[in-house]
Amino acid sequence: MPEMLHFERWDVLVVGGGAAGIGAAVAAARNGARVLLVDAGPMVGGELVSGIPVDGCLSSRGEWVVGGVCRDLFDECDRLGGYIGPINDYRSLHVVAVDPEIMKIAVLNVLQQAGVVLRLYSYADQVVMDGPRVRGVVVVNKGRRTLVEAGTVIDASGDGDVAVAAGVPFEKGDAAQGELQPVTLMFRMVGVDGERLLRFVRDNPENAGLGEYEGIGLSRAECAAALYRQGLPKVFLVSDGPVMRDAMARGALHRSSMMGITPTSMQRREVSVNTTRVGHLDATDTERLSQALPDLVKQVWECAGFLKSSVPGFEDAVFSGLAPRIGIRETRRILCDVVLGDDDVAEARKREDGIAKGAHEIDVHLAGTGHMRRPIRDGGSYDIPYGMLLARGVPNLLVVGRCMSASRVAHSSARVMGTCLAMGQAAGTAAAIVASANDAISDLRQVHVGRLRETLRAQGAVLEGTR
Ligand SMILES: Cc1cc2nc3c(=O)[nH]c(=O)nc-3n(C[C@H](O)[C@H](O)[C@H](O)COP(=O)(O)OP(=O)(O)OC[C@H]3O[C@@H](n4cnc5c(N)ncnc54)[C@H](O)[C@@H]3O)c2cc1C
Repeated sequence: MPEMLHFERWDVLVVGGGAAGIGAAVAAARNGARVLLVDAGPMVGGELVSGIPVDGCLSSRGEWVVGGVCRDLFDECDRLGGYIGPINDYRSLHVVAVDPEIMKIAVLNVLQQAGVVLRLYSYADQVVMDGPRVRGVVVVNKGRRTLVEAGTVIDASGDGDVAVAAGVPFEKGDAAQGELQPVTLMFRMVGVDGERLLRFVRDNPENAGLGEYEGIGLSRAECAAALYRQGLPKVFLVSDGPVMRDAMARGALHRSSMMGITPTSMQRREVSVNTTRVGHLDATDTERLSQALPDLVKQVWECAGFLKSSVPGFEDAVFSGLAPRIGIRETRRILCDVVLGDDDVAEARKREDGIAKGAHEIDVHLAGTGHMRRPIRDGGSYDIPYGMLLARGVPNLLVVGRCMSASRVAHSSARVMGTCLAMGQAAGTAAAIVASANDAISDLRQVHVGRLRETLRAQGAVLEGTR
């Protein structure tokens, strides 16, 4: 590893190029800041490019609750032919499906158009403090070690690496048991006959999660028929339905609460599959995480065989790819000035200092076939307060995305990508306000929340007017 330490100075350093970091970097750059986005991987996008649908953009009622940078990404996917759009799963959610291969390009285009400077293959390692402030982050790559100094640092690393290095307190998983949600490797299959799959669900609705949000107002069979008419192969096979249950009983399938099938390309007749799982694993333990990969790949392969042999529509389907990385649902939750609580989410709480909205149901995956899911009141949305981004005790550090400040239950809702993009956009905008203040703002807490909200609204964010 290179020994000499180089120095750089930026207005804003964003660590992590997933949904939250992209929202933050684009917003900060569009609002005039000089922005460096650092990612440890070879590609930007994080879980946005794994084949997972983007949740949390619409509430269970079907109202859009996220706009701004998220909308711009969707528009760019659309322009490039990779936007499938919102889908009602007739279970409880409206999700937005995109082609992950096109999303890779869309993310780069949107970052470039905003003027964000990207540094890949670069790991944010240590933090250098100046009293309570983060002076800079030591970023390491093959070529050099650099102390990247920045007026504001945004931790969008998913695991809160920067905040932890800066000494900010955190929680991890379930406080009593130390339990964490399982990790999953997503995969995709092409050549799927979507009509046949949907017909199977229509005629055998007991195999699928359907009609769970009361507001749908349809019976299970009616939901299955509506899903068929919608014509998009978005299906949740459930573990207590005969097809999955029997396969698990005869050992032909790993144990999982569900199998989430989502269209990723209509042209390729491709779907992604969210089902594999390894539990009881702390994903910040890199050795254990690495050891989980062969197990996950084995599950993928078995599951692809199960789909072909047992699920109508997959007879002629062909395995087409693995996600670029193991998907991590939960590690550290960094404690900020405000911690989003269970009731804030469940009761769809609105707030005057809201800078983004969440709308995904409470959704804690448990080991094996366990799954804790609860709807948000009236299928509505809740507000993310500005204080939730302000790292405790540090004047110039914001925390967004999966490592957000929330209770475990609240986190299970707000961790989805629509919400991460929205809170990222808010963080980037706040950081740009600080940068434009020419040293008049020494603490992110001095940012006028009214002004922040005004700027966000003007740039397409949804802050009010929804249930
Ligand atoms: C299997 C699975 C299924 C899911 N299903 C859905 C779903 O259906 N819909 C939905 O919306 N959400 C879903 N989620 C949740 C959602 O995908 C994530 O919570 C969300 O994408 C997190 O975004 P993020 O930007 O915080 O982190 P990530 O997307 O994980 O991005 C973090 C980035 O930071 C980089 N990084 C990490 N540490 C460092 C470091 N020290 N230095 C430099 N770079 C670093 C990583 O390389 C990565 O690119 C799912 C998650 C999983 C795992």
